[in-house]
Amino acid sequence: MDNLQKLASLIFPDVSEEDTVESLEALFPERGLKEGAKVTRIAPSPTGSMHIGNLYGGLADERIAHTSTDDGVFYLRIEDTDDKREVPGAVEKIIKYLGAFGIEFDEGATADGDKGAYGPYRQRSRAKYYHIVAKKLLLEGRAYPCFCTEEELQKIHEQQEAEKANFGYYGKWAVYRDLAPEEAIKKIENGESYVLRFKSLGDPSKKIEFKDTIKGKLTFPENDQDFVLLKSDGIPTYHFAHVCDDHFMRTTDVVRGEEWLSTLPWHVELWRACGFKMPRFAHTAQVMKLDEETGTKRKMSKRKDPECTLGFYFEKGYPAKSVIEYLMTLLNSNYEQWRSANKDASYKDFPFKASNMGNSGAMFDLAKFNDVSKNVIAAMSADEVYEGVKEWAKENDTGFYDMLTADEGYAKSYFAIGRGGKKPRKDFACWSEVKSFVSYYYDDLFTVEESYPENVPESERKQILSEYAEIYSKDDDNNTWFEKIKALGEKYGYTSDMKAYKADPGAFKGSVTDVSNVIRVAVTGRNNSPDLCTVMQVLGSDRVISRVKAAIK
Ligand code: GLU
Repeated sequence: MDNLQKLASLIFPDVSEEDTVESLEALFPERGLKEGAKVTRIAPSPTGSMHIGNLYGGLADERIAHTSTDDGVFYLRIEDTDDKREVPGAVEKIIKYLGAFGIEFDEGATADGDKGAYGPYRQRSRAKYYHIVAKKLLLEGRAYPCFCTEEELQKIHEQQEAEKANFGYYGKWAVYRDLAPEEAIKKIENGESYVLRFKSLGDPSKKIEFKDTIKGKLTFPENDQDFVLLKSDGIPTYHFAHVCDDHFMRTTDVVRGEEWLSTLPWHVELWRACGFKMPRFAHTAQVMKLDEETGTKRKMSKRKDPECTLGFYFEKGYPAKSVIEYLMTLLNSNYEQWRSANKDASYKDFPFKASNMGNSGAMFDLAKFNDVSKNVIAAMSADEVYEGVKEWAKENDTGFYDMLTADEGYAKSYFAIGRGGKKPRKDFACWSEVKSFVSYYYDDLFTVEESYPENVPESERKQILSEYAEIYSKDDDNNTWFEKIKALGEKYGYTSDMKAYKADPGAFKGSVTDVSNVIRVAVTGRNNSPDLCTVMQVLGSDRVISRVKAAIK
């Protein structure tokens, strides 16, 4: 055995003679899918709370795979190589959150294991595969152990600064690049700590052309950095792990954030050195927002923007459908146009195209999102609204949950008001807003929150209300009811001739609207409500009469 072989066996005691890249190729064969099928993945690190960017990317991946062919594959890979930063329970949360948004995986990590033939899907369980590939690179002279300490690296950095050289570990700065294998063996046997570095053969004076699915043709200098492949504990860096995994999991399209563009030259050289065919890459724009203070565009931030974390949507109770609908508008600029021509279709029917994804930052606008969500809820049936609110209240407002479930039929009947038809009411954007809209349906929550019309004197208001208590009948339909209100108004000098009133309001004491608003405030506590006659039918005559009477006292 020559010294290089010896060094390789010393570094990789877990890799036997039979453990070769060829054996991995056989273990994870080409998928044999239909022509044009795409295999995509979402590869989150379980190091923090999920953010809107994860969902934005995940949705794009899911759509790309599932709109390619009926056997396109979308899988979940957990990139858990940074165990120090791992948050307990994060994997379960990733799966739960994505599931709650209807993002379903064909294969990948599950809460308690794996599903699929290309696993394991957690990087920590794949150590041996990385080592097999790394060993091959070492034997081919494309990787080497580097024994630099933190202090030595710091010194190199300072010298580079003094010489105004590019930073990093490369070329003449890469002091262990040409260390003889027997020297490396000695150091390892001495117990010195080391990392495994890539041996770059790139020349930055040469340019590479790269075709990105979103960004189009990119040109950049070749890499010359000897970046780290395996850390001192044998755990791979992202750069190395994603190459091995995307190759052996047979990913056809990598969709990832554009923050990876700066290290793309590393990846291009590494893919080639490994002898693997690169998949297509789509580097997605960051999710941005307009900073309220400065008025400038900036990256969404978990610290500054509550809507950046996915937990926000659950706490507020936004329907998953709203979030997905809005993200679709951010992902493909022609989505809105498609939606207006296909109002009732599922977003899954939209012909999603990776190449139609925006090149510059997607602007997340909370006001616009709320508007989208109002539209989504407005198009729901009363039953759907009831279920949505109920599920949210169960977790977040048990008092309200008890009220809702104590009389399901009652809740559904007020949710039905103003639904259906061409112009449904757009009251709420999320379930946490519902309670304040419907509180007057419950005596325990009812209060007179808003003031009566100012042009109706208090004594007259009370007279109007007491007469109303006499003429009110729960059986009146809308027309009959309104005729009664008009007559009542006329009696007190509030005109029902709205045309004349609008032309010259000063000529009248007020209009029939003032009369209905007097009743509205007495019965709902507000001067704005859905159709009042219908609201009263739902409230029932006992509640109506007792509120009107209470307002007279
Ligand atoms: N774990 C990486 C991240 O969270 C994945 C990037 C990729 O999709 O390749 O940024």
